[in-house]
Amino acid sequence: MTPKKIKALQRLIQNPQSFLIIGHTNPDGDAVGSCMALGLFLQKLGHQIAVVMPNAFPDFLKWVPHQEEILLFSKDSKKIEKLVNAADGIFTLDFNALSRVGKEFQNLLENSDKPFVMIDHHLLPDDYADIQFSHPEYGSTAELLYVIIDELEQTNAIDKDIASCLYLGIMTDTGSFKFPSTTANTHRVVANLMDAGIDASLIQRNTFDANSFSRLKLLGKAMENLTLMKDCNTAYISLSEKELEAHDFQKGDTEGFVNYGLSIKNVNLAAIFKEDLHLGIVKISFRSKGDFDVNVFARNHFNGGGHKNAAGGKSELSLSETIKKFRALVEENKMSLNEAV
Ligand code: 5GP
Ligand code: MN
Repeated sequence: MTPKKIKALQRLIQNPQSFLIIGHTNPDGDAVGSCMALGLFLQKLGHQIAVVMPNAFPDFLKWVPHQEEILLFSKDSKKIEKLVNAADGIFTLDFNALSRVGKEFQNLLENSDKPFVMIDHHLLPDDYADIQFSHPEYGSTAELLYVIIDELEQTNAIDKDIASCLYLGIMTDTGSFKFPSTTANTHRVVANLMDAGIDASLIQRNTFDANSFSRLKLLGKAMENLTLMKDCNTAYISLSEKELEAHDFQKGDTEGFVNYGLSIKNVNLAAIFKEDLHLGIVKISFRSKGDFDVNVFARNHFNGGGHKNAAGGKSELSLSETIKKFRALVEENKMSLNEAV
């Protein structure tokens, strides 16, 4: 964090203002957690805030403090347009390209002359923010946000609700402190959040022990469809729209499924393909172990991006054609997948 950027942020939040805080489409724990944490923090400093997500977030985040105040662009676009026009500043969290909020919302934001602040940990940021905190070295936006609050010398403002939101983001984006992005700093930050009074065990339970019966049945279907390309150290799952519908698919139900493929011994690349006939796309998640860079893979071949070991993308081909394309690409990359450690 350069002192210059912290100073610029300090200036922006010096006097009571109106701020919009925005997360990415299909918000995950880090998007909801870091946006809500920043919202509550700025509110505590005396600002008017509105936390906005492009579309709905999964039910397993319905325990998050003040989540009921989050506005959805998919539902309230007119109201949000007014808020954008009235805001003194716009914070975008956990993404680094305005295309990640969807076309209509993107247009609205691109036409706004308000100061933008980016707080994000993905690679290769687009150049839209007036103050840009882009730090891929952090495992989560929530951890980065804690560090920024620390540099603002405002950690004393972090109460139990703010700390719980930050913990959520850190916990979900580090796979409960398992991914290599988990550092000594991560644990130090979490220790401070525990000192702020969070019930870490309850947050874990609220988030992860919130399965519906149909979600577990869908997991069964996903495991049935799990395919191993042993020679290429790759495993993938596909779920057709028909299969998703048969299991009463709700947003977020497939969260984490892709990790089962990666948990197979010697598998270095895992993917999940989900057919969405309504949008006419196949949504894809990629995960890797070691050197194989799924951010580059998703960017080059599936109109996506993310991080080295966790990325996503989409395809406008049919489900079977998408999988065919993926299999061919995996074969092409066999050597590096064999060697990825
Ligand atoms: P997930 O597979 O959990 O949806 O996403 C994994 C990572 O890839 C996240 O950091 C997410 O922001 C990023 N990601 C997922 N889908 C897309 C996409 O379509 N485009 C880009 N640029 N990033 C994505
Ligand atoms: Mn994140």
